[in-house]
Amino acid sequence: MSERVQFLNGLWSFTWSWLRNPYGRAVNDLNNLVSLIKDNAKLGNGSSSWICNLESNGSYTSRSVAAKIDESLLSSSSSGQETMRNKLLPHKIGIFIWRSTKKRLPVRFELDKRGIDLDSLLCPMCGDDVETFDHIIYNCNHAKEIWDGVYRWWGKNRPPDISYDNLFKGSGFEGLTSKSKDIWQAVEWVTGYLIWKNRNQKVFHNNSWASSKIINEIQVKVYGWINNRSHAKVLDWQQWLLNQSNMGFPRVNNLDPG
Ligand SMILES: [Zn+2]
Repeated sequence: MSERVQFLNGLWSFTWSWLRNPYGRAVNDLNNLVSLIKDNAKLGNGSSSWICNLESNGSYTSRSVAAKIDESLLSSSSSGQETMRNKLLPHKIGIFIWRSTKKRLPVRFELDKRGIDLDSLLCPMCGDDVETFDHIIYNCNHAKEIWDGVYRWWGKNRPPDISYDNLFKGSGFEGLTSKSKDIWQAVEWVTGYLIWKNRNQKVFHNNSWASSKIINEIQVKVYGWINNRSHAKVLDWQQWLLNQSNMGFPRVNNLDPG
């Protein structure tokens, strides 16, 4: 970061070296980043070291900056249009899905494109590939395990290859009643949301959940939200787990928790 940003004679100086000049929304993102740095970092007393108030001890780490960017990207006030809706789910899930389909998740590939220095562009979960949206949410082996479990729970086979756009906009709707489509979409969205949360847990706290625990969490969360929000009769927990309620689910005999 010190190569790009300096504080000289009381003024901030930014030295970028773009492969390609930023344009469009990237300019906004860059401006946000610049004000974030101005607000949160200052030079140490009489030294050339950085003080950054994102961490309580004042030290600058790319992790704390990345966490802050993550937070500001995902929690900035929504105009009300920056969301996708599934009436069974809380607003925050719709906002996450909207941002992710607009490629506004701070995956390493995107942060790098925006000029943020990172130690590595590799996926924090598997370390085998560059972390893009497609990779972290669907193509990573870790994500595949989770999707496999979720699809199996619903008596489906996970499509081997799927575009990110299709993933959250209605894949796997074949043969479902409209009510079940809402529920299946809720399951898909929450799956993506929890895969991303788990990724952040790994990046920022260096721990993560086993796939089976995430699958269980998906079942618990969606169940709770459906029962809180829908006017339909409350789902029975056992039927929900076995996916054989009378809401039009295909019956699944060999539920594997993952
Ligand atoms: Zn991976």
